[in-house]
Amino acid sequence: MPRFKKELELAIELVRKATQIAEWFSKKGFESFLKLDQSPVTLADFASQIYIVSQLKEYFPDDEIIAEEENIDLINIKAEDLIKQCFNELNLKKLKNVKENIRFRGKSSERQWTVDPIDGTIGYQKGLSYAVGIGFMIKSNPKVCAIAVPNYNEKLLAIFTAEEGQGSQVSYNNKNFNPIRVSQNENLHMIRLCHSLHYDQPWVLNFAKKIGIRKFIQIDSMAKFCKVAEGTADLYIKPLDAVHSFTWDFMPGDLIVKEAGGNVTDINGEHLKFKKEKCLWTAPGIVASNGILHKKILELYQSNH
Ligand SMILES: [Mg+2]
Repeated sequence: MPRFKKELELAIELVRKATQIAEWFSKKGFESFLKLDQSPVTLADFASQIYIVSQLKEYFPDDEIIAEEENIDLINIKAEDLIKQCFNELNLKKLKNVKENIRFRGKSSERQWTVDPIDGTIGYQKGLSYAVGIGFMIKSNPKVCAIAVPNYNEKLLAIFTAEEGQGSQVSYNNKNFNPIRVSQNENLHMIRLCHSLHYDQPWVLNFAKKIGIRKFIQIDSMAKFCKVAEGTADLYIKPLDAVHSFTWDFMPGDLIVKEAGGNVTDINGEHLKFKKEKCLWTAPGIVASNGILHKKILELYQSNH
């Protein structure tokens, strides 16, 4: 029996609505900005987060929210009007104060939500793949997640979900959710490796080629974790740096892969830990695999690095 049914249902609804917001801005056109760390953010990122946070606040007012965007100064009056127009046309709840939802973080609580309003913003800007990810934790332990990936298989919207102890699932029609499992591939030379479309990561590709990997799947966003979870990829290696290791980026993918029977660790073999907005690790790389390959990949990394 699912323990967090309401949380899961809300997460599914919110990631679905958030993709509608993102698609609305895609058609309408959107402004892009650069954040302090030089990563891009668009008006759609803000609109998506504003909607998600406003709903979390309404349904779970005592919970804490850990969300990516915070710079309300980027939203001028024109932008605010555009966000209101979007919500209006999509029949979403009207908000009196749009901007206050950007920085709203709820109360300090052992019940925490993580929100990535648009993951893979570069992919989104280019009309390629992106994702919306929401996670729910108790005392920093992942319990529930939902990841929406528009333009997934045959251009359909895929919604992936997982709950601790209940497995992972996917839906392509907004109704039926079917269980997914990682691949059973044990053969190193048959590995299908997921890696980023828009970020250079020479060590990952060098390492992969060195150990004989020949099949590469390039896709933006946390959808790479979904590929491993559903068994259409066997491995995903993600380089990290201390500045860009956020809970909203990795908590949903961590749960999706593990609940589908796979494994996720850093390259030392330690499980990821989450502390508020920070994803903690002992070495700067994440390995998500079908589980069977995991130990071998870590050993090969140690002896080839
Ligand atoms: Mg984001």
